[in-house]
Amino acid sequence: MRYSAIFAKTRKTAPSDEATINAKLLVQAGFVNKLMAGVYSYLPLGLRVLLKIENIVREEMNAIGGQEVLLPALHPVANWKKTGAWESVDVLFKIKSRTGKDYALGQSHEEVITPLVRGYCDSYKNFPLFVYQIQNKFRDELRAKSGVLRGREFGMKDMYSFNLTQKGFDKFYEKAKKAYLRVYDRCGLTAKVTEASGGGFSEKISYEFMVLTEAGEDDILYCENCDYCVNLEIAKVKKGGVCPACGKGNLKKARASEVGNVFDLGDKYSKDFNFSVLDKRGQKAYPIMGCYGIGTTRLVGVIVEKYHDDMGITWPEAVAPFKAYLINIGDGEKTGIEAEKIYNALTEKGVEVLWDDRIKVGAGQKFADSDLIGLPYRLVISPETIQKGKIEVKKREQKEISLMTFTEFLKKIG
Ligand code: ATP
Ligand code: MG
Repeated sequence: MRYSAIFAKTRKTAPSDEATINAKLLVQAGFVNKLMAGVYSYLPLGLRVLLKIENIVREEMNAIGGQEVLLPALHPVANWKKTGAWESVDVLFKIKSRTGKDYALGQSHEEVITPLVRGYCDSYKNFPLFVYQIQNKFRDELRAKSGVLRGREFGMKDMYSFNLTQKGFDKFYEKAKKAYLRVYDRCGLTAKVTEASGGGFSEKISYEFMVLTEAGEDDILYCENCDYCVNLEIAKVKKGGVCPACGKGNLKKARASEVGNVFDLGDKYSKDFNFSVLDKRGQKAYPIMGCYGIGTTRLVGVIVEKYHDDMGITWPEAVAPFKAYLINIGDGEKTGIEAEKIYNALTEKGVEVLWDDRIKVGAGQKFADSDLIGLPYRLVISPETIQKGKIEVKKREQKEISLMTFTEFLKKIG
């Protein structure tokens, strides 16, 4: 893509109304734009990142048997009254129509998916079933000061599992936890799995996936020796204490951001919606449900919190909006022609390249924008590189610069 064609460009300075690094950098570099607190537009560069994250999530959910759907965001009040959530969920956005009717904006989708699946699955042969979607959620959050980490409208992948046996459910629950860790790993993040209580509606154990970052809104205790980790809010153990799991390490306190979680819902929702089938032995069974969330837009922010330096973002390759930032400097016409050749050749080879083809912008600003936007590679074409028949290549997070031919560069990036 040509940078001149992207309408949303970098800004000279970071926005003064943002407190967090993720929002400052994402806004300044032209990835997102704030409409109001907790509500952001995704601009061409930001959308490419979000779509890459969504595709990683999609691949991993498909790999464990998930079927993708897209559910409505606007819900009838009756479904929310049936589960008690109309009264008990404080973040639920309630809408009054001019007809006097009430509606809810989806903050999660148990209230929609359960009656939906009930309408199609009336035999034990329909189970197990795993359904997910990637969609915007709406929540009346009191504080929305953490940039894209906490939105009032935000992206989430939510999956719902339906099993007729506890054993089947337990097996899938474990499988989903592993798939989650693969998602974070592919996004360049290390997530710790914390045990937590199952939210307001059950005594069951749920698991949260936490990435250590000062920008997060959770405090956790983790063992420096093993994988043990708990949310401080509910923990019976104390900071500095001996790990109850391995008995060796001490528990350290850290700030973290919750990038996903999995809940055992039991039969709460299937009972609320009177959803039962006859199992293999002809006995009435209420499907055991689980729900599995990943904050896709929160992930964009957490990645920026982890991957940046003084000059801008340093995207991990798997989620970078483009692989390389191509700049031509000096002797506009000649280097422009050469850069266009390289741009076309790379594009033809399937390499995603952003060509800063702006004519009246100086080299200094192009280099600064390249660092701010933070693509994995910077490619420079100058009269000297043309003379040598080479391209100047620099990795975003490294200092050293090397000269290589087009073919050598292709080989380097595999
Ligand atoms: P939190 O404790 O951060 O409010 P939650 O327990 O309410 O999260 P869920 O309802 O289970 O979270 O939502 C699933 C995932 O969606 C979370 O793990 C998180 O990654 C993301 N998420 C939740 N609320 C928000 C929000 N307001 N903005 C952005 N992402 C969110
Ligand atoms: Mg919440």
